[in-house]
Amino acid sequence: MRPWNDPQRPDWPLEAERMVQEQILARGVRNPRVLAAMRAIPRHLFVPPQEQRWAYVDNPLPIGYGQTISQPYIVARMLELLDPQPEDKVLEVGTGSGYQAALLGLLANEVHTVERIPQLAEEAAARLARLGLDNVHVHITDGTLGWPQAAPYDGIVVAAAAPKVPQALLAQLADGGRLVIPVGHRYGQTLERWVRHGNTFHRERFEPVAFVPLIGQEGWDESSLAASP
Ligand code: SAM
Repeated sequence: MRPWNDPQRPDWPLEAERMVQEQILARGVRNPRVLAAMRAIPRHLFVPPQEQRWAYVDNPLPIGYGQTISQPYIVARMLELLDPQPEDKVLEVGTGSGYQAALLGLLANEVHTVERIPQLAEEAAARLARLGLDNVHVHITDGTLGWPQAAPYDGIVVAAAAPKVPQALLAQLADGGRLVIPVGHRYGQTLERWVRHGNTFHRERFEPVAFVPLIGQEGWDESSLAASP
């Protein structure tokens, strides 16, 4: 994986290297393929122009429409838990900027990513095309129902907070497939990994996280969120 060349910001690979060393390795993520992907994808091209100077800092950033690109460490941690293999087909729910989908494009064979906000999906698809990641397919839909057209998946990663695990996503896992998802209440969740063995599912729980809500049929109801503080 060679870093993308950006003549407008030639030193970005140094910034990405510092991000990997100080934010990701320092917190214990060790998967070498995940680290290599984080060094290769230019995060600054996935945020709005006014946020680009902060692209490699240890924070989520606004991407418009009330949504965020997740903190780099959280993205790396979720990818490590997902452990995508080069031959895998994976699904991401919550395309947002397209950054995590781009990383998945380097780590897996075929990537489907779904987003409910059409403008975000279109902007992400344009970025992914500019980077030549033609194994990543962006779809506009309610991702709480997955993307059955391409199922089953070796891995599914959900980048928004679910009140409970959507049954449709479990149903779209291949045997041995992994689902990584933040589950909990509106302002705080736990990172969970579900692994399918035949028709049984094994759940592991990891650290606390805080994501924007997963809105949809098997997620939060948008009207109830608007009413909350
Ligand atoms: N993975 C993204 C990235 O790399 O920029 C960050 C995702 S952002 C934290 C969460 C995204 O999930 C938002 O763009 C939001 O619109 C989207 N989302 C929320 N509910 C959704 C649903 N039911 N289906 C698809 N996308 C959803």
